[in-house]
Amino acid sequence: MSNFDNENARRSRDRELGMDRNITRRDFLNGIALGVGGTLASPWLGGLLAAQMPAPSAQERSGYYPPTRTGMRGSHPGAFEIAHALRDGTFWETAGKRVETGEEYDLVVVGGGISGLAAAYFYRKQSGPSARILILDNHDDFGGHAKRNEFHLDGRTLLTNGGTVAIESPFPYSKEARGLLTELGIAPPALQKKYSGNAAFGGLGFGYFFDKETFGSERLVTNAPGGFYGRQGTSGKWADFLARTSLSAQAQQDIARIQEAKIDHMEGVPQEQKKARLSKMSYKDFLLNVVKAHPDVIPFYQTRTHGLYGIGIDAVPALDCWAIHFPGFQGMGLDRVPSKGLSFTALGEVTPQEEYHFHFPDGNASIARMLVRSLVAGAAPGNTAEDIVMAKVDYSRLDHKDSPIRIRLNSTAVLARHVGDSSSAKQVEVVYGRDQKAYTVRGKGAVLACWNMGIPFLCPDLPAEQKEALHYGVKVPLVYTVVGLRNWTAFHKLGVRGVSCPGMYHSSMNLDQGPSIGDYKPSQSPDEPILVHMLRTPCQPGLSAREQQRAGHYELLATPFETFERNIRDQLARVLGGAGFDPALDIEAITVNRWPHGYAYEYNPLWDPDWPEGKRPCDIARRRFGSITIANSDASAAAYTDQAIDQAYRAVQELFSR
Ligand SMILES: Cc1cc2nc3c(=O)[nH]c(=O)nc-3n(C[C@H](O)[C@H](O)[C@H](O)COP(=O)(O)OP(=O)(O)OC[C@H]3O[C@@H](n4cnc5c(N)ncnc54)[C@H](O)[C@@H]3O)c2cc1C
Repeated sequence: MSNFDNENARRSRDRELGMDRNITRRDFLNGIALGVGGTLASPWLGGLLAAQMPAPSAQERSGYYPPTRTGMRGSHPGAFEIAHALRDGTFWETAGKRVETGEEYDLVVVGGGISGLAAAYFYRKQSGPSARILILDNHDDFGGHAKRNEFHLDGRTLLTNGGTVAIESPFPYSKEARGLLTELGIAPPALQKKYSGNAAFGGLGFGYFFDKETFGSERLVTNAPGGFYGRQGTSGKWADFLARTSLSAQAQQDIARIQEAKIDHMEGVPQEQKKARLSKMSYKDFLLNVVKAHPDVIPFYQTRTHGLYGIGIDAVPALDCWAIHFPGFQGMGLDRVPSKGLSFTALGEVTPQEEYHFHFPDGNASIARMLVRSLVAGAAPGNTAEDIVMAKVDYSRLDHKDSPIRIRLNSTAVLARHVGDSSSAKQVEVVYGRDQKAYTVRGKGAVLACWNMGIPFLCPDLPAEQKEALHYGVKVPLVYTVVGLRNWTAFHKLGVRGVSCPGMYHSSMNLDQGPSIGDYKPSQSPDEPILVHMLRTPCQPGLSAREQQRAGHYELLATPFETFERNIRDQLARVLGGAGFDPALDIEAITVNRWPHGYAYEYNPLWDPDWPEGKRPCDIARRRFGSITIANSDASAAAYTDQAIDQAYRAVQELFSR
């Protein structure tokens, strides 16, 4: 075909997919907010838009309510440019006039995620209700990765998580983290008993979509046995399921063997040695070299680790995959006890703890919202874990001059430095960029509850060894796409609530599983609107985990919204088209929660050394520096909510113990 024909074919396909349809993402051009209530939503967009910047603060304007924004969310445009300019050494050249606010606080917190909010909570608890605290965050909303996505479709409010969903963590919560939840009024096991998942999905199973580019021909195969993680799905035989796919006979035979056969693939090797070997080989290598499976099985399993690890089976140790219930190990006699060679996540999987799966409809954004309600009087009505779900936060209250605790959004900290010598200074000066100016505030102490890799730029006086340690981890990029659909009749007809798509742009799609709670009712029947979650992790198999994460970070920042949208529409059409799904008619809204700096980097025996106790990079990175302490989940190299809270507690204790 000529270029002209190609272009015509693309246009025609775009029309079929509905790329021209007016859905709720049209306020955004490649994620840049063009007009929200007649004002600009992202106040730092470089010189281009400088003249129209809102002043003094977007969050004080009426109608400011970021949870309902669609288009490119997560690390949205406007959130990261200052930090990148600081990294590239160009920020101060263009920073404009430095403004002395004259504001003085007991504590300045950098980062308004769960860790920063928890740090403010613990500080106030210890210091008393009059403690003056300022929390700075570069995003237009608080909560960090615990982000609320709120949709209004066909008169119905639908909520979901744009990032963090589960309260449950690999290990039991510490006394402090559990205590914080209890004080806020969150008791997950009790909530679980009262509010379980959506009963409307009863009877729906899981399927796999085999795309032609990866598997040679295109097919959706439903009623998958064992589900995605061996925990859900039908009790049917794998051989019967595989016979309905287009996989080669050898691949079918090998997958059935991996899934069901009880074979000891390392017969005669003592248990500890088996575990040690498995911790040093990838799951992919285990399948190919130990199980001796045909290479055709790899595409079937390749993306199975994406959700939990953000990388494929080429970069996750086989021992971790055993711990998280992947198949192939059932005949190997491995005891489910904590042992060396497991990553944090996998170690938690073999450590007993109370089981509950309750999560809020907007995930842990509800925890962030309850923290904010507790910290700032008048921020949100109500006082229970139930009423927070539908409570509307009044953003104009968050940075109010009369409030002892203030949360300042759209504000990127660019400098945290002692006023005087770090060993004796009585104050820390914190400078943040907003509205093309640099503003200075002061605190008796500062907690940096932001990301480790940014701290050396923000805090140039840190010792060199600590800076190096802060740079070690590379946060894991991933995308949680949320699509608002007019109805879910296609899913219902096909009998699926989730589909694994191992070869496609998004590796899975699932109906939103949020529970009814308080006044919130998610979709109850297939003809009602619903939200669909799609997962994309931009990995590059063949590279080390850290290199894959670096490459993915750049890919996410370079990918325009239009590319996401076209892929989303194409994928939904191909997977669900057989049941009458029409992307041009059925898609009502799209939000791409892009997290170039997502999960905290967890140490992985395939790629990282086995450091002695207390010598891991995160141990060195989180050392107190005078009146500046370091919180956030990177500080424990573990991407979990309880870790973010624990690190906040430690960081605050370090300030008080000074
Ligand atoms: C997609 C996704 C899904 C997840 N799912 C789960 C889950 O189900 N369960 C679970 O327990 N954990 C989950 N996690 C991990 C969990 O979200 C984190 O461990 C926890 O929320 C981290 O909190 P934090 O405050 O340390 O960091 P963050 O939430 O990242 O908050 C830090 C904040 O600081 C801001 N910041 C950074 N630099 C600056 C600066 N210079 N100035 C101002 N602000 C700055 C950041 O933009 C961010 O808003 C998930 C993470 C991601 C990305």
